[in-house]
Amino acid sequence: MARKIMIAGNWKMNGLSADGLELAKAIKAEVKLKKRNCEFVVCPPFTLLGTIKKALKGSRIVLGAQDCHFDEKGAHTGDISPLMLLDMGCTYVILGHSERRTDHGETDELVSKKAKAAHKAGLKTIICIGETLAQRESGETIDVCSKQILGSVPDDATAVDTVIAYEPVWAIGTGKTPTTQDVEEVHAAVRKVLAKKLGRAQANKMRILYGGSVKPSNAKELLSLPDVDGGLIGGASLKAGDFLAIADNAGC
Ligand code: PEP
Repeated sequence: MARKIMIAGNWKMNGLSADGLELAKAIKAEVKLKKRNCEFVVCPPFTLLGTIKKALKGSRIVLGAQDCHFDEKGAHTGDISPLMLLDMGCTYVILGHSERRTDHGETDELVSKKAKAAHKAGLKTIICIGETLAQRESGETIDVCSKQILGSVPDDATAVDTVIAYEPVWAIGTGKTPTTQDVEEVHAAVRKVLAKKLGRAQANKMRILYGGSVKPSNAKELLSLPDVDGGLIGGASLKAGDFLAIADNAGC
């Protein structure tokens, strides 16, 4: 089953109007340079969604946000609803990133609730999972990731509305990466759990991205593994040249 490679940039809490706009324009220009067969997503902070949407007009790069609330509207000061994201032109929303799980105490249950609401509104989700260093060192990686998949992915998720991102917490922003064997092992295990939860057909079609210190020099080995369907890129997505070099090296 051919799964379209996704290259998604998570800008996190980075970018003011001027530099965000410059980055989006540079990515748009670089994407145009050659015929590419992957799906590009950029996920700027909420404050830049409108600006970046306009800047990306006419390109095939789609917009994503980095979180949403599970309610459509109401008394949730500081939160953003799935419908608001849709209204801003978002196609995707990242949910359950480890920084949200850590900084905001987000649980699998909450991530699943958000994902259901996002799907209901018509957004696609990129649901993040991944183990901490302590969990890896104690041999719990597969158990932790399986539990996160079972708890965070809605029961009616499909390969159309959901993408999984495996991001070992200890690899995010550290320059450290798992071995290709480790990545392959986790991705294969995740696909097995998805098959149990959603059925083999959906699991075989669902994209599982790798994220955590991906850069141009390691993109080829990490992103061309059999069960790896692209990358969720943090730091390296803030430089258009690096972001596109990652896509090039991932074969798209
Ligand atoms: C991320 O935060 O999603 C991420 C993968 O970050 P980095 O690429 O900087 O490790």
